[in-house]
Amino acid sequence: MIYLNGDFMPIEEARVPVLDRGFIFGDGVYEVIPVYSRRPFRLAEHLRRLQHSLDGIRLANPHSDEEWSALLGRIVAGNAGEDQSLYLHVTRGVARRDHAFPEDTAATVFIMSNPLLVPPQELLATGIPAVTAADNRWLRCDIKAISLLPNVLLRQMAVDAGARETILLRDGFMTEGAASNIFVLKDGVLLTPPKNHLMLPGITYDIVLEIAVARGIRHEIRTVSEHELRTAQEILLTSSTKEILPVTRLDGRPVGDGRPGAAFALLHRLYQDYKERVMRGNGSPF
Ligand code: PMP
Repeated sequence: MIYLNGDFMPIEEARVPVLDRGFIFGDGVYEVIPVYSRRPFRLAEHLRRLQHSLDGIRLANPHSDEEWSALLGRIVAGNAGEDQSLYLHVTRGVARRDHAFPEDTAATVFIMSNPLLVPPQELLATGIPAVTAADNRWLRCDIKAISLLPNVLLRQMAVDAGARETILLRDGFMTEGAASNIFVLKDGVLLTPPKNHLMLPGITYDIVLEIAVARGIRHEIRTVSEHELRTAQEILLTSSTKEILPVTRLDGRPVGDGRPGAAFALLHRLYQDYKERVMRGNGSPF
């Protein structure tokens, strides 16, 4: 069951007019929210980021947080599986094709849910290969825009090379992955770039940093050079659906000793503990 503009229906019945600005211009934003045991994880943070994305494209939020919460709750209830991946999508609606914003056009709102497929144990045990590429996206990567053509092309480079993710470099510095944030371990310190217009402010990125603060894991939020990436002891990838994954090969060469390292093992365990505690809902996760 999906939600489209006020109605709940099977996905096969959902239709969007061809003049929707999402279809014509990619003029819209989205969110992906993991659901564990039928409860959306970090919902308030995802809705805050949605508001940031909507502000970034100057589109009024069609719903209050309470309304979003109710709509998402109905979609979770209407789909099978305890763990789900919610996808919500807002476009500037249907209008005669013209780049300038239309006046008085209702936004298109779409919500669907898919089973949440977290990485299998084998992948956590071996880690994943990644490649690097020049970050050729625009300068508002903090907006979670549905116009994902650069990300699609960059991610496909990884697939074509038999790898799983493309790590992006801009002006000699690492920004993020094509669909993930990246941490590196260098001289025993966890490094990750500061949030700015060059990367998506990841919800999982925030959680890893909260864990690092709470557990006294040495870390620095600062620009990470290409050299530091290429000589890292460990590279970690984060996203809501991948959680935390170790990158064990970069451009065909082993990262560290080529196996998932101790920082990954620790952070992965702490992340799972954090999730458990938050989902059991007994106050502070720490
Ligand atoms: N960066 C990009 C470009 C992404 O698409 C994503 C999400 N897939 C992330 C980072 C990770 O964000 P989150 O932890 O909120 O899933």
